[in-house]
Amino acid sequence: MNRSKFLLIIFIVAIVGIFLGFDGHKLLTLENLQGHQGALAEWIDQNLLLAVTGYAAIYVVVTALSLPGATIMTLAGGAFFGNLYGLAAVSIASTLGASLAFLVARFLMRDTLRKRYAETVAKMDRGISKDGAFYLATLRLVPVFPFFLINLAMGLTAMKLRTYALVSWVAMLPGTFVYVNAGTQLGQIESTADIVSADLLLSFALLGLFPLIAKFVVGFIRRRKVYAGWQKPEHFDYNLLVIGGGSAGLVSAYIAAAVKAKVALIEKHKMGGDCLNTGCMPSKALIRSAKAADTLRHANRYGLESVPVKGSFKNIMNRVKEVIAKVEPHDSPERFRKLGVDCISGEASFVSPWELEVRHNDGHTERLTARSIIVATGGKPAVPPIPGLEDMQPLTSDNLWELQEQPERLLVLGGGPIGSELAHAFARLGSKVIQVERDERLLAKEDEDVASLILEQFEADGIDVRLQHSAVEFCLEEGEKVAYCEHGGERVRIPFDQVLVAVGRAANTTGLNLERIGVDTQPNGTVPVEDDMSVRYPNVFACGDVAGPYQFTHAAAHQAWYAAVNGLFGQFKRFRVDYRVMPWVTFTSPEVARVGLSEAEAREQGVAYEVTRYGLDDLDRAIAESEDYGFIKVLTPPGKDKILGAVVVGSHAGEILAEFTLAMKHGLGLNKILGTIHPYPTWNESAKYAAGEWKRAHAPEGILKLLEKLHGWRRGKGQTRQQKRKEVTAG
Ligand SMILES: Cc1cc2nc3c(=O)[nH]c(=O)nc-3n(C[C@H](O)[C@H](O)[C@H](O)COP(=O)(O)OP(=O)(O)OC[C@H]3O[C@@H](n4cnc5c(N)ncnc54)[C@H](O)[C@@H]3O)c2cc1C
Repeated sequence: MNRSKFLLIIFIVAIVGIFLGFDGHKLLTLENLQGHQGALAEWIDQNLLLAVTGYAAIYVVVTALSLPGATIMTLAGGAFFGNLYGLAAVSIASTLGASLAFLVARFLMRDTLRKRYAETVAKMDRGISKDGAFYLATLRLVPVFPFFLINLAMGLTAMKLRTYALVSWVAMLPGTFVYVNAGTQLGQIESTADIVSADLLLSFALLGLFPLIAKFVVGFIRRRKVYAGWQKPEHFDYNLLVIGGGSAGLVSAYIAAAVKAKVALIEKHKMGGDCLNTGCMPSKALIRSAKAADTLRHANRYGLESVPVKGSFKNIMNRVKEVIAKVEPHDSPERFRKLGVDCISGEASFVSPWELEVRHNDGHTERLTARSIIVATGGKPAVPPIPGLEDMQPLTSDNLWELQEQPERLLVLGGGPIGSELAHAFARLGSKVIQVERDERLLAKEDEDVASLILEQFEADGIDVRLQHSAVEFCLEEGEKVAYCEHGGERVRIPFDQVLVAVGRAANTTGLNLERIGVDTQPNGTVPVEDDMSVRYPNVFACGDVAGPYQFTHAAAHQAWYAAVNGLFGQFKRFRVDYRVMPWVTFTSPEVARVGLSEAEAREQGVAYEVTRYGLDDLDRAIAESEDYGFIKVLTPPGKDKILGAVVVGSHAGEILAEFTLAMKHGLGLNKILGTIHPYPTWNESAKYAAGEWKRAHAPEGILKLLEKLHGWRRGKGQTRQQKRKEVTAG
């Protein structure tokens, strides 16, 4: 705890001590007030200004320090200053006092809470930034919760002081008026319970409902406003129209069909989208061939003869196509039609928030309406406008799979997951790969130790990794393709045969006619979504790569659930997307699998953490497979076993990570992983060993010392026969 916090606590404790020590709480009673009313009133008449100021100051202190007696003080305000001045003095003083209490709670507690319960606080802050004023007004209007608790609780949130003070002031006015008014009748009041009758409580409750009603009305007006100028169709062709047949669109349509909604899926190119046709599937198939090549090249590790890898690139690419063809039926129009989805081959664009124009692939167009529309149009590789790059016929993840000949010298632009996966695969397949990355490390989203291990492996596999290199120009020099990069103020020349661009992805929004319905894209090109996945209109949604922020198949599917369910049932209940436990894997070798916070993120967010590491070189299974490298790193709050984040770098990292993901999702700590039987010898045992490392580091030293003594005592006091014999021999 820092000095100023400590001093403030001492100060508060001293004031509260003095207040209670001098029986302040006994002074502020109804009987006392009634008993001294006459004498006090006379003095106040003669010293009005001093009396009001002094009264307000005491009121501020009582509320700021949450001392008992605020109710009596409010009654006194009415009794001594009347309705008007009493109301003014009390409402200003109570707002000031409440704001001070709010600030004290924030100063003393918020940072600590944020460090300990980062996720909960973040969630609370999101709620407060959206509806905080409404919540506060409700709590102030309905006198069910003690006001001092509201002051303290709100101080722990991210609510702005200005909002807090203003809403408190306005919402406390009705209650203040009731009490001040009651104070003017002090003679008739026998107990504070007389002030709040059942009727009054009911009217307070109604007042409390007011913000909720207001919220509903505001929502209604907002909806009216956003739809102003549009004519809603009286009937709809569908309950749901989905644009795009990739991971996000397929899951959306699947869910809609499963709950018997009438749904159409419009895909302009190939069902399955990027994941099946140009992304996850082909890349993983290529990576597997590359791994096989690596195993053959290093067969001596397994007691076999290493062989020079000979293979036909054409055959490798044919295998990639076969893999796609095998998975294709999962995403095929036939399968989805059987599930009850109308699959339409064509390109869709918006006519209104309920209507799409579909240009069928056979040339004809039609208009379709639906209650809700989901945009799931995905993304495409971004090709930066570097002079000369277009003339090099650059490869991207879109056209790479048509390649017939293996590039001898492949220049890969980009050190992110896609660039790194493909660079590694081509290097293992025998291309001379030069990987250029603008940043100071590969896989910039991962921690330094993770990136270094990958770099080490890449260099061991012959990749020429050029970090802090920015490609600035491409040209042909004597028939040879050349890239120029800027590096530390110098121009570096890199000759190559083919260039693969993997520097990021851009959302697919062209042709959707989003402008027509007033939807602007964000600076990064994605469609801006609310946390229920809606886009500007409560019945238009977006999910997957076109919405971001994560660009993974599983993230697309996760979002699709929210888009589809909110699209179909949003009038009754809206579900807010939850990204707290989002795992991902980069399929380099070793794989990098992450869930939750990295160390860098924890530092950035001010989350206190400690690190537990377990080296996979220690794992029996890894040793048996000659793949004993990599590590597991788990972040936990100091002294606790709750998992804040985990990264696994090694073989089968994606599979090992699943256990940490499950644990995080369901609030299971490392102790629970440690207490679970894991079959021997498996890769997954490593999760248990990582948990064991944590346990060892948190062994209760004091208890262990006591146990040592207990065991010694149980073996018999004094020297053992063995010790005596030793002493005799030595003597
Ligand atoms: C090389 C590579 C490897 C990857 N590896 C992985 C991985 O291992 N794991 C992982 O989780 N993710 C991986 N990804 C990411 C993953 O492929 C995407 O996150 C996922 O495909 C996104 O799905 P989506 O439905 O949002 O978009 P898409 O799959 O792109 O689908 C969008 C569909 O919409 C169609 N469309 C666009 N506009 C219109 C229109 N106006 N009318 C009709 N149809 C339209 C498109 O033709 C497309 O089929 C990889 C990506 C790449 C490029």
